Amino acid sequence: MRVAIDGPAGSGKSTIAQMIAERLGFLYINSGSLYRAIAFLALREGVAWQDVEKMINLAKKHRFDCLSDGSVIVDEECLKEELRTPEVDDIVSQVSAIPEIRAEVNNIIRRISEGKDVVSEGRDITTVVFPDADVKLYLDASPKIRAERRYRERLSKKASTKEEGAEADSISIEEVRKNIEMRDKLDAQKPIGALKIAEDAIYLDTSDLTIEQVYDKVYKILRARIAHGR
Ligand code: C5P
Repeated sequence: MRVAIDGPAGSGKSTIAQMIAERLGFLYINSGSLYRAIAFLALREGVAWQDVEKMINLAKKHRFDCLSDGSVIVDEECLKEELRTPEVDDIVSQVSAIPEIRAEVNNIIRRISEGKDVVSEGRDITTVVFPDADVKLYLDASPKIRAERRYRERLSKKASTKEEGAEADSISIEEVRKNIEMRDKLDAQKPIGALKIAEDAIYLDTSDLTIEQVYDKVYKILRARIAHGR
């Protein structure tokens, strides 16, 4: 069974997809993390995202895998927190706008999903990657709520990294909101894989809902679909 979830940053899709995958024993694939891993590698290897040819080579020369906790294995290395830095946030949408990079990521997702029950989420999972998914969901929330959610995530990350004595990033809610707006804009304009609501997707506005309430709704939808033989 394939469950596809799309939506903008901060709509709650990663949290919900992960909870659903855990409950049903499905593999969780966070496609944004794959784009983030490529952006991270570009920063680390000194490849400018504007250099399309080098970016394509970079994506092709590594082997990528996804773990159900949202981390990405690149060759032998496990990447998780390093994918969610402001530096990666700043270039990931530009990286993901390169059509060849999208094709590469779509191939990775399809290879990892082969023969498995999966919950995959991103921007074009319901429309491009798995247009024939058994269940399609589009999660949304107002820009203000999405920025607040991301900001709170950063604060809790900051608190936990501080406990470990590591250097934490200091970012304001205004910066988070600006980055989300910039990514929303770029995501809407992409020639391939732009964020759209698929005609057959179930639309859920999560602005006034808690994670538990969204989870209950999504879980009921999935149970009903499973009971009716998909
Ligand atoms: O979901 P997340 O915010 O981590 O994704 C990072 C970026 O990757 C998004 O801002 C978007 O530009 C891009 N992305 C995409 N297509 C996907 C998933 C993510 O273009 N399926």
